[in-house]
Amino acid sequence: MGPEFVAGRRVLIVGGGYIGLEAAAVAAKLGLSVTLLEAAPRILQRVAAPETSDFFRALHGENGVAIIEGTGLASLRGTGDGAITADLADGRVLNVDFVIAGIGVAANDRLAREAGLACEGGIIVDARGQSSDPAIWAAGDCTVLPYRGAMIRLESVQNAIDQAEAVAANMLGAEADYHPKPWFWSDQYALKLQIAGLNTGFDRVVVRKAEGATTCSHWYFKGETLLAVDAMNDPRNYMIGKRLIEAGRSPEAAVIADPASDLKALL
Ligand SMILES: Cc1cc2nc3c(=O)[nH]c(=O)nc-3n(C[C@H](O)[C@H](O)[C@H](O)COP(=O)(O)OP(=O)(O)OC[C@H]3O[C@@H](n4cnc5c(N)ncnc54)[C@H](O)[C@@H]3O)c2cc1C
Repeated sequence: MGPEFVAGRRVLIVGGGYIGLEAAAVAAKLGLSVTLLEAAPRILQRVAAPETSDFFRALHGENGVAIIEGTGLASLRGTGDGAITADLADGRVLNVDFVIAGIGVAANDRLAREAGLACEGGIIVDARGQSSDPAIWAAGDCTVLPYRGAMIRLESVQNAIDQAEAVAANMLGAEADYHPKPWFWSDQYALKLQIAGLNTGFDRVVVRKAEGATTCSHWYFKGETLLAVDAMNDPRNYMIGKRLIEAGRSPEAAVIADPASDLKALL
């Protein structure tokens, strides 16, 4: 952490994904004045349901972070005295001391394309990790790989490790398909978010929260199929959700929604 992170300084964080929100949490905890700007209508829109966005908006609000959603950054101007003026797309003007950009990445697959490999925002591989050239294998963030009938890119440490091990075994002749088990986490303030599965294509979210509880979980379904779980300080239900998803089992939404039900009995 650089000397920018000093109590009282004003920081603008551009981007309300997990990276921007984690940066906001660190800055707010250290006593900086934090404004977070998100161009989409809500923070976490790309990766989470409105329920989860609402949860994190409230969490950051309680910790003094000002969140501006639905407008992007138009320009940044130095003021000459070391400060920065940020012009927002909706005409608002913010004066800050420094800016953090957490606006995501696009995979650069130029080298692989020039080598003649089939690519689509990453190197396309089959379930064994083989690219369109049978002599070339790939694993990790750079790959576009099959997952439950779709082609996805997974940016996570666990996937990079698991896929690399599977691909190495296949290079040695194992001939075993790799089945990703997506899971992610994010630490913000005293909150640990754990995510099991991938929510892509969900059509409803079931909230599990006991009256007055500070922990909760959001369960993503597509039809009757459980896709993913966001667990907020709720490791028990995260683990249950993860095991259900990995086993391809989908509990009834009504059971999930009832905080008195014993989810462990579903395993
Ligand atoms: C800010 C940030 C926070 C993150 N937080 C989390 C988290 O909380 N949990 C989580 O699971 N994941 C997180 N991730 C994602 C995680 O870092 C990646 O999924 C993981 O590092 C992928 O591993 P990898 O080996 O595929 O790629 P990388 O770790 O990116 O390694 C690729 C390496 O290849 C090198 N390289 C690239 N091109 C060439 C070339 N042409 N020749 C030689 N070398 C080359 C690169 O320099 C790099 O060292 C985060 C990522 C970022 C950026």
